[in-house]
Amino acid sequence: MTSEIRALLREELQGLSAYGAPQLDVAVRLNVNENSYAPPTEVVRAVARALEGEIATLNRYPDRDALKLRADLAAYLGHGLTAEQVYAANGSNEVQQQLLQAFGGPGRTALGFGPAYSMHPLLAAGTATGWVDGGRGPDFGLTASHVEAVLREYRPAITFLCSPNNPTGTALSLDVVRAALAATSGIVVVDEAYAEFARPGTPSALTLLEANPRLVVTRTMSKAFAFAGARVGYLAAGPEIVEAVQLVRLPYHLSALTQAAARAALAHADVLLSTVEQIKIQRDRIVAELRERGHQVADSDANFVLYRVARDGSADETDQKVVWRRILDAGVLVRDVGLPGWLRVTAGTPAETSAFLAAVETSDSLPA
Ligand code: PMP
Repeated sequence: MTSEIRALLREELQGLSAYGAPQLDVAVRLNVNENSYAPPTEVVRAVARALEGEIATLNRYPDRDALKLRADLAAYLGHGLTAEQVYAANGSNEVQQQLLQAFGGPGRTALGFGPAYSMHPLLAAGTATGWVDGGRGPDFGLTASHVEAVLREYRPAITFLCSPNNPTGTALSLDVVRAALAATSGIVVVDEAYAEFARPGTPSALTLLEANPRLVVTRTMSKAFAFAGARVGYLAAGPEIVEAVQLVRLPYHLSALTQAAARAALAHADVLLSTVEQIKIQRDRIVAELRERGHQVADSDANFVLYRVARDGSADETDQKVVWRRILDAGVLVRDVGLPGWLRVTAGTPAETSAFLAAVETSDSLPA
């Protein structure tokens, strides 16, 4: 960017980099936590039929309120939720941006507990909302007392909790969510993009919605549903929150094609979600194998694993960049999330796991 244009940029955006996970043409891509399994033929056909049904009426704007899709999403979520408590947009990123537009903005603060999802602070910057990083423990865990203390100090308008957390994979106990709600009078967002991959016994914050009108749970069809390309994310919350985001959404923000495709996919939820158990097996395989080889690995309830690149725990600041490149040279794209000494890998097919584990072995055997 030229200095002339940079000087014209809003102050809070100066010096920031756009979200930029590399999109490289590599055989094994395990860097953005996509679902490695393409939608099966029966879903492809159902989505194609649904899209065809919409094309003849594309001269008309879509249902602005996406009511049928919201009803379908509510039915998928269960917990007695209805369409009035669900809102959908182009990915959960857009949902979170709209929450910040509605409840954040100039003079207000949003707060998260890093390392967490890198888009939360970027969305805050984009909506001129201040950002505070409350941090988390050395094992990436988050305790109720830490969350409480940080929230009482900063009193943010919006708090982001991420469970399971990206990039660490850490799931939160509901006590932490309850503590956040008790410690702040603002909005509490629990980003549950990876909820479907959680290990048994991990409760969803959806169970707390009824008693907590300031609570918002965001979800996505990008991960478990293998529908990242369609861009469908959603939230569940009280009807007042849904009304609030409708104040800032663009008219007809969700295209008729997106709505139809998402509804067709949801009608095949069982088939699409059948890959989740296979992915969890690969996730657990990566965790077990890397630990066996002496790597430090964060517990994961998601479809990815964060691990320390050095086997003896002595990685310095540059190590993960070197190892990332070596693994790429071996044909596997993983993610450097900017955490010194750590890399993140998505759990995909058994063959992809094997390729990744072999690439790590090759990298480990090279001189430092
Ligand atoms: N939340 C988290 C924690 C994520 O990791 C992601 C995707 N990387 C998203 C939200 C956004 O997903 P989407 O916009 O595709 O719904």
